[in-house]
Amino acid sequence: AKQRGKANWVRYTAGMEKPAQADAQLGGDLRRALDAGEFTLVYQPIVDLRDGRTIGVEALVRWLHPERGMVSPAEFIPAAERTGLIVPLGRWVLRETCRQVAAWAAEFGLEPLQKVGPNVSVRQLHDPDFVADVRAALADSGLPADRLVLELTESAVLRGHQVLKVLHELHDMGVRLALDDFGTGESSLSLLRAFPAAIVKLDKSFVDNIELGEEGSAAANARQAVARAVVQLADALGLDTVAEGIENQEQVDRLRKLGYTVGQGYHLGRPMDAAAMTARLAAQQRD
Ligand code: C2E
Ligand code: CA
Ligand code: CA
Ligand code: CA
Repeated sequence: AKQRGKANWVRYTAGMEKPAQADAQLGGDLRRALDAGEFTLVYQPIVDLRDGRTIGVEALVRWLHPERGMVSPAEFIPAAERTGLIVPLGRWVLRETCRQVAAWAAEFGLEPLQKVGPNVSVRQLHDPDFVADVRAALADSGLPADRLVLELTESAVLRGHQVLKVLHELHDMGVRLALDDFGTGESSLSLLRAFPAAIVKLDKSFVDNIELGEEGSAAANARQAVARAVVQLADALGLDTVAEGIENQEQVDRLRKLGYTVGQGYHLGRPMDAAAMTARLAAQQRD
């Protein structure tokens, strides 16, 4: 399938006046869409900045609505969280990610698949079956637990006792946890102590215009200072980093100078369908 740009995405709720009414309709539609198989995953490469090789993928969900076209996850994920549909949808994302990545691992080996991330909503962590679902997705696919990286945000909610217990169970299984959008949450730093994270993903907002640092832009200098602090903190705590939202080579160069070795972004590879990712992995294996 050809990759659609954001410009082609539709606003799902356009024309619906009341949010509650829109949610109720969207909740029903999401259920139907899940049963009808309208969701699909795209995969964005996670790249070693030193040699450009793919070393992982992030799985991102897409909803191809039969009449409306491609609906952005930025729009339907919040609604899926409010209506609870994120639990069955997230379960599907997890299973499909493990299935696809295990197939790639069988074909291309584990070297390009060191970090394999589906996004997980906090709401899923409150589902009593979540740990069992992860265990089953790994067992059914044959994917080794240490390949799976669950990307989590919403730091404040993650501190609940029950949620931390779940995160420690996953950690004990060998599954890694990544703190997504790192630096944007108010409690990022204190959370790192309580939370068994293995990876921090530097939020795109600190990467934007970072290449303009040291050229008189105070804002860019500030972002650069945060980016540097995050990588130093991660190194001190023994965590891996991924810099997100890299859109040009100047950003790669600047991030490398700051100490980042792994990144993600349109400059390194856009989210692509499974067939395109298969081709990318095959090309990499040839050289
Ligand atoms: P995220 O996890 O922070 O994912 C990164 C988003 O940034 C993706 O948008 C990706 O396409 C986009 N992106 C990557 N590189 C660049 C870049 O260089 N420039 C720009 N401008 N954007 C870039 P997407 O796919 O629209 O996803 C948006 C958000 O929706 C995700 O943010 C994540 O929070 C959520 N999401 C997506 N899939 C899932 C899912 O399966 N489950 C859950 N719970 N949330 C999901
Ligand atoms: Ca993510
Ligand atoms: Ca992110
Ligand atoms: Ca985000």
